[in-house]
Amino acid sequence: MANQSLVRHINERRLLGILRVSGPVPRAELARRLSLTRASITGMIDDLLARGMVSEKARESNAERRDVGRPGIDIALEPNGAYFLGVEIGVGVLRFALLDLAAGVAETDEMPFDRGLVPEAVVGMVADKLAGLRQRPPYRDNIRALGVTVPGLVRRDGHVINLPILGWKDVNLSALIAARIELPCHVENNANAAAFGHIYSDPRQHHGVVVYLKIGTGCGGAVIIDDKLLRGGNGLGTEFGHLRIAADGPLCSCGQRGCMETFVNLKALQRYATNRDVDEAATDPQLPEQVAAGLAKGDPDAERAVATLAGHLTEGLVDITNIFDPDEVVFGGAMLPVLDAVVERITGPLRRRMVPGMSLPLLTVSRIGAFECAIGAAALAHHEEFDLSNLDLRT
Ligand SMILES: [Zn+2]
Repeated sequence: MANQSLVRHINERRLLGILRVSGPVPRAELARRLSLTRASITGMIDDLLARGMVSEKARESNAERRDVGRPGIDIALEPNGAYFLGVEIGVGVLRFALLDLAAGVAETDEMPFDRGLVPEAVVGMVADKLAGLRQRPPYRDNIRALGVTVPGLVRRDGHVINLPILGWKDVNLSALIAARIELPCHVENNANAAAFGHIYSDPRQHHGVVVYLKIGTGCGGAVIIDDKLLRGGNGLGTEFGHLRIAADGPLCSCGQRGCMETFVNLKALQRYATNRDVDEAATDPQLPEQVAAGLAKGDPDAERAVATLAGHLTEGLVDITNIFDPDEVVFGGAMLPVLDAVVERITGPLRRRMVPGMSLPLLTVSRIGAFECAIGAAALAHHEEFDLSNLDLRT
């Protein structure tokens, strides 16, 4: 790319980034924030208007501005200008989320799949879904990129090292997707994607260091530092589920015993609620809702289950807090119905057990819900394509 067109490419993405974070902005302010002349900004905006990426919007009048005269015109992102498909390959379920150019959720959908399917067949289902979406407006020719998540270890290049829950080992998922789908594709671990989606949905806040714990069938972790995912050397880091919080315990999917995951996942909640061991196939996905209902009625079994789980989670959180000094710890995943109650029971013990002098992080629950991984995957695709990748999100 010649220097001049590279500068234009960068400025165009900076402009789109400003509009995403700040909302509609007057031309003069865009020129000022991008240090461009009026002529340059006009040329760039005319081009984006012609491509349907931005639109002109009459500024909402208010008492202060009414005196000034005719209403001004702002430049706004045109949500229909582009779409990004996020796909979560879950445990026997595919979840899809489409984000528009303004990073709003256009639609979501899910479909079951047989857990015994080979990776090629699952990728085929994703390709068929994409083809179906392209049959109808406004997605026709307008889906720009794809993000895909899996609940396992994924290298930076999209190679799945291990996905024990589906029995996938050493699968070059990026290559399988590229063979069927011509769009740019980003493959990511599910907790990383959910964490990214959480901060991407609220770009105005300064997030500092955010730790994300996704608690459900397993326990995934992610760390975001100044709006960038901390991936580790190969993209495999922040596996908080495998923090060793006990000398012994149930056998973990990683082959070890004592991992936090085995004390805080759905299977563990079922064990605490029923006072007996359960096999994974018997784990009831409705359990968190049932336990939450039990808590509301003062049921002692539900209270014991949540308190036990919160106690084990505190063990891991003390270490995580001491290592990362996070501003915020966000909890998400299928455990959502009981997470408020868990957070309530963690706060005091965590405060008492952290290294003295450190600040208690803000403990919050992600409300994005069941589609958090698919939405996060689409957010990663949006970020890679339209923001200045690997630069600061905050323009
Ligand atoms: Zn483990």
